[in-house]
Amino acid sequence: MKIRTVEAVPLCWPVPSGGHGRPSDYGRHDESVAIIVRIETDDGLVGFGEVHPGYGYTRGACWSVKAIVERELGPEIIGQDASRPEYIWEKMYNGPRLDIALAYGQSAPRMGRRGVTVCALGGIDMALWDIFARSLGVPIYKLLGGGYRTRLPTYASGGHAAADEAGEEALAYVAKGFRAVKMRVGAMDAPRVVEEGVARIRAVREAIGRDAGLMLDAHGSLNEAQAIRLARAAEEYDIDWFEEPVSSDNWNGMRRVREATAIPISTGENDFTHFDFRDIIAHQAADILQPDLAVVGGFTAARRVGVLAHAANLQVAPHIWGSALLFYASLQLAAALPNCPIIEFRQGANPLFDELIAPPPAIDDEGCVTVPSGPGFGVDIDLEAARRRYPFERT
Ligand SMILES: [Mg+2]
Repeated sequence: MKIRTVEAVPLCWPVPSGGHGRPSDYGRHDESVAIIVRIETDDGLVGFGEVHPGYGYTRGACWSVKAIVERELGPEIIGQDASRPEYIWEKMYNGPRLDIALAYGQSAPRMGRRGVTVCALGGIDMALWDIFARSLGVPIYKLLGGGYRTRLPTYASGGHAAADEAGEEALAYVAKGFRAVKMRVGAMDAPRVVEEGVARIRAVREAIGRDAGLMLDAHGSLNEAQAIRLARAAEEYDIDWFEEPVSSDNWNGMRRVREATAIPISTGENDFTHFDFRDIIAHQAADILQPDLAVVGGFTAARRVGVLAHAANLQVAPHIWGSALLFYASLQLAAALPNCPIIEFRQGANPLFDELIAPPPAIDDEGCVTVPSGPGFGVDIDLEAARRRYPFERT
């Protein structure tokens, strides 16, 4: 079960409408990208992982990720035993100083301890766990301790509409069967971020009623004062969490927002490795941690985040804004953690989410998803068909 090949295949889907109709603070995007990592062993086992620099909106970084996977990390792990994903994680993270790291029992990271290097590392780590589980004929959550659940509540992740259409948009999610809705707030409502934000929140809450869950996500786009004012004004609308009220560059500020409101604070989609999450916890900056498998460093790092969170009495709600492969991988993580009560389900048409894998992600009539029980991620991907259908290079 030695690693024979490590490949990174970027995929691209043009977004004809320019995104979600109303641009978020991240702007309008005319394409969505994802990089599928494919690893094959000398005995023919194949596993997949995903990297999505810029959450699928950064074409240029795809070249960096592909180069790191195929020319930097990949060659370093060729010949390694694929059934040792944790060891290989440490080998990739510490690079030439692996021996020091293992001898001292502490990290001695290579240059590239955050950013696209860790994203690339995470894609490889996902593929190795996929291979390891497939070699044993079990889903990944079995390898991660046996699992806590095989079915998970979801929330519809969207909510970009302006105040006059926000209620209608959220109601459409509920009509699809979702029991909770996440809407965007923050700089997209500038210049009156609090007043406009509250108007949109009120419209959504009135439309979906009090039985449905409602979360807010500011993408870290507010300053502390704005975030505190918005949070306090939103409290009467029964908000389940307020996500990234301020930037991850300001965990002290996030703590002060948390202290100023009764609404739980969530964060983590822009943070790397369990070391970052240790520091979020140390800052007491959040109630709910949101590692993204394709950012944090794959299953190895995300599982460690789950343990740290559990020890701090915090929940985990994985961030998932990628292709269907990332969604199914994240289901395996969520099934394996004791403290993961809900999972993100992206809204807005995107074939990389809706068509890449059969069957596509879907909810049942109670707004839940079932964790696939097959080997690895429990689903298969036809990478050659995807490469033809979603070419990264345009002619
Ligand atoms: Mg978010």
